[in-house]
Amino acid sequence: MSTRRIVLVGNRLFMKFPNHDYMQQRVSVIDGLIVSTQGMSDEEILRELEQADGIVVIGHPVTASMIQRADRCKLIMTLSVGYDVVDVQAATERSIPVSNCPLYCSEEVAEHAITLTLATARKIHQLVPHVREGGWDYKQVRPIRAFSSSRFGIIGLGRIGRHSARKAQGLGMTVAAYDPYVDDDIFAMTGVERFHDLQPFLESVDYLSIHCPLTDETWHLMDDDSLKLMQPHAVLVNTARGPIVDQAALERALQQKVIAGAGIDVLEVEPPRGDEAILEISSAIVTPHIAWYSEESHDRNLDQAMDELIRVLQGRRPQYVVNPQIFSRRPKQEMTR
Ligand code: NAD
Repeated sequence: MSTRRIVLVGNRLFMKFPNHDYMQQRVSVIDGLIVSTQGMSDEEILRELEQADGIVVIGHPVTASMIQRADRCKLIMTLSVGYDVVDVQAATERSIPVSNCPLYCSEEVAEHAITLTLATARKIHQLVPHVREGGWDYKQVRPIRAFSSSRFGIIGLGRIGRHSARKAQGLGMTVAAYDPYVDDDIFAMTGVERFHDLQPFLESVDYLSIHCPLTDETWHLMDDDSLKLMQPHAVLVNTARGPIVDQAALERALQQKVIAGAGIDVLEVEPPRGDEAILEISSAIVTPHIAWYSEESHDRNLDQAMDELIRVLQGRRPQYVVNPQIFSRRPKQEMTR
C-alpha cells in the first residue's frame, strides 16, 4: 500500500487544530501522511494538491483551478458544517466527493445563538463596563424587554435552527421561522409558527437568529432594505456565515438605531482586519467564530472528519457527501481507485 497524502488547507484549520499528531495517528491505519500547508504560498499549495489523496479544509477557498490540479484526490473534507468555501460544482464535474461535518456542533451553535440573544437583549456587554467604571444604575441600559412576551425569529429551520427554537421556547418566547425548504410537518412538530414571506416575518420578530447556509440566494439576505423592515427594538444574531448579512448595512443600521443590537459570531472577512466599525459599536457583541466550540464538539469534529476520510480512502462511500449525484453516474470500479 503506497502512502496516502492528506493535505490540510486553511488558516482556521491551523488555529482550530494546531497539533496534527491525533490526525496523523488516526490516518496511520490507511498508511496516511498528514501534510500541513501552513505558511505555504498559493503555488506551493497547488503543488501539494497535485499529490493529494485527500484534502481537509476549513475557511480557505477550494477553487475550480485548485480542484483541476488535484488529480489523485478522492475526497474533499470540510472540517465545518458549511461547505460554501468549496467549488462543489467543479468537484462534481471531476467526480470528487465533497463531505462536511454536519453533526458535531448543532447544540453548541444553538447555545451560542441563544447566549448572544440573551447577552445582547439584557445588555450585559454595556453593563460590565458600566459597573467597572463605578456605575450602578439600571437606567443606563433602558429599555430591556421581557423574553416571555417576545417573538424569536429563525431564518433556516434546519438542525441548528430547531435546537435554537427549542431553547428559545424554554425561555418562554414564541418562535417563528422563515425557511422555504422545510415541510409544514417540521413546523407543526416543533411548535414553530411558519412565515412564507420574509417581509412580514422580519416586521414581526423581536429577535432574529440566522441559521441558513451561505448560498447565492442567501448572500446579503440581510441588507439595508431588509434591516429597515425590522422593529427598532429588535436584535439580530448571526452565527451562520458572515456574508449572509451585509456588514456595512448592519453597521449603518446599528449606528442609526434602525435596530437595537446585534450578536455576531461570523464576519464577512475573518479574522477581521481590525478597523471594522462593528468591532467598536457599543450595541454589538462580536465573538470570534466560536459558536461551534466546546471541548466535546472539538473532539467530535476531528473524529467525524477522520472517520469519513478513512472510510473513503479505504474505498467505501462517504457518509456525509454533499454531491451524492457523482455516485449515480460513476462506473462501479472507480469507487475503489
Ligand atoms: P442545516 O442544513 O441543517 O439547516 C439549514 C437550513 O437552512 C435548512 O433547513 C434549509 O432549508 C434552510 N435554508 C436554505 N436556504 C434558505 C433560505 N434561502 N432561506 C431560509 N432558509 C434557508 O444546517 P445546520 O447544521 O443547521 O447549519 C446551518 C449553518 O450554520 C451552516 O450552513 C453553517 O454555515 C453555520 N454554522 C456555523 C458555525 C459557527 O461556528 N459559527 C458552526 C456550524 C454551522
